[in-house]
Amino acid sequence: MSRIVVLGGAESGVGAAVLAKVKGFDVFLSDNGKIKEEYAKTLRDWDIPFEQGGHTESLVLNADEVVKSPGIPSTAPLVQKLTGQGTHIISEIEFAARYDEAKKICVTGSNGKTTTTTLIHYLLTQAGLDAGLGGNIGKSYALQVATEKHDYYVLEISSFQLDNCYEFRPDIAIITNITPDHLDRYGYNMENYVKAKFRITQNLRREDCFIFDSDDAITIEHLDKIVLQAKMLPFTQEREVSQGAFLRDDKMVLRYEENESEVYLRDLALNGRHNIYNSMAAALAAKASGISDQVIRESLRSFTPIEHRLEPVLSIKDVLYINDSKATNVDSAWYALECQKRPVVWIAGGTDKGNDYSVLLPLVRDKVKALVCLGVDNAKLHASFGPVLGEERIVDVLSAEEAVQAASRFASEGDVVLLSPCCASFDLFKNYEDRGEQFKEAVRRL
Ligand code: ADP
Repeated sequence: MSRIVVLGGAESGVGAAVLAKVKGFDVFLSDNGKIKEEYAKTLRDWDIPFEQGGHTESLVLNADEVVKSPGIPSTAPLVQKLTGQGTHIISEIEFAARYDEAKKICVTGSNGKTTTTTLIHYLLTQAGLDAGLGGNIGKSYALQVATEKHDYYVLEISSFQLDNCYEFRPDIAIITNITPDHLDRYGYNMENYVKAKFRITQNLRREDCFIFDSDDAITIEHLDKIVLQAKMLPFTQEREVSQGAFLRDDKMVLRYEENESEVYLRDLALNGRHNIYNSMAAALAAKASGISDQVIRESLRSFTPIEHRLEPVLSIKDVLYINDSKATNVDSAWYALECQKRPVVWIAGGTDKGNDYSVLLPLVRDKVKALVCLGVDNAKLHASFGPVLGEERIVDVLSAEEAVQAASRFASEGDVVLLSPCCASFDLFKNYEDRGEQFKEAVRRL
């Protein structure tokens, strides 16, 4: 019996282990840290041997194949050893796809993955199709392949998951956009990061579709260097295209094969310029899946915005509090500021991922009246925005509670308090969800 070793015991690793078990492999799971009780229980329930708090090399290096969780970098000593001895290392997505016949719509990109993936899943289910939702969202893809059966999967796939994909092939691949993010994992080399994203296209056939943002210079530059067989479906807010999505007056136009249809922008449930892009990408995926114009129009209108992404929390004394905790890089915060029509008290900060804040300066000059820095080290925020705002309009805080208090003191009637941090959350919070929850709690206590 061939032996599969899974490295990492969280959502994707445990899903892969269960699938390996179902498929009759000799499975072992090893995690360097502590495995959450819910995952340990799943492993016990499925009778899968595992270890935590360290790797026993003799139990790992004898694998015929290794499924590596996306959180483990390829530079980790054990991974280096496996690579050195020639062991094939794959991602959970690659592994699960071997056992899945369903049509796959797969979304990657720097920003907008969760929004676009969830919206596509909504469109498919509104059309009455049987679709699983997975990848980086909710239940792992591998666990679903092991325990459920769907005609379609809509998968959000990070560049880390794509790093170890080789044969994996979506029927519809989407890159929402590419802006600098996670460069720490790619040797601070943008080219490596772009190539990782483009792995989603590497096996596309002539009959498959590639949906992409043709206003995105980095995407276009890379597309010029490669040859793709797939049907190309660009989306753009800058020009008309013969196939794909574009703007005409106050409408989004969808052109797919011989058909053209329109959706009023005012009818889109999701607000902001970035969400026009997301809605275009999702609508094109729906068109390519044969969904009717009517269902597309109705679904784009009735979709409910997702938590922690430009989520309105409360209006208190005519100050609107917005939770955009998921804005963990400069580009997402740019879009959050760009779509604000009222003066903004901006809460930003956290763990910096090598950010260059200069692109935000014009928006901050125009729209931001004060900045609340929510992070352990705020030196870079002060250095970047101090000259524009003046130091008297910047304060430092160390908790969501203090941030909301400070922001409410700066805000007056008609303003917006926007948590759109530009940074990861790990210096003060468990994750971005925790940061968003604590922010919302603090707002409710005001
Ligand atoms: P991801 O899953 O790629 O992180 P999300 O849909 O969770 O993307 O959104 C993350 C953040 O980026 C949110 O702050 C959201 O408002 C913003 N955002 C969403 N779509 C886009 C887009 N197309 N371009 C830029 N920012 C976006």
